[in-house]
Amino acid sequence: MNQERGGFMDNGFEPKILICCECKQEFAFTVAAQQYFAERGYAEDPKRCKTCHTQHKKIQRNKHSGETEFSEAHYPEL
Ligand SMILES: [Zn+2]
Repeated sequence: MNQERGGFMDNGFEPKILICCECKQEFAFTVAAQQYFAERGYAEDPKRCKTCHTQHKKIQRNKHSGETEFSEAHYPEL
């Protein structure tokens, strides 16, 4: 059975709504963003919305943490 899912590209990505772990706001994890993350080898969903992600990145840069959680990645313009 070949199940077509409502016109989405056949790459397993679908737009998702995630909850930001910082501000608890819903934010969209779009197909474009998922592809962007996947290309960079990130298997997990982002935990933060774009705003908090940007803030977090600034803090991470200051802290000089060894963890590289999305530190090189930035959201594509959507
Ligand atoms: Zn947030």
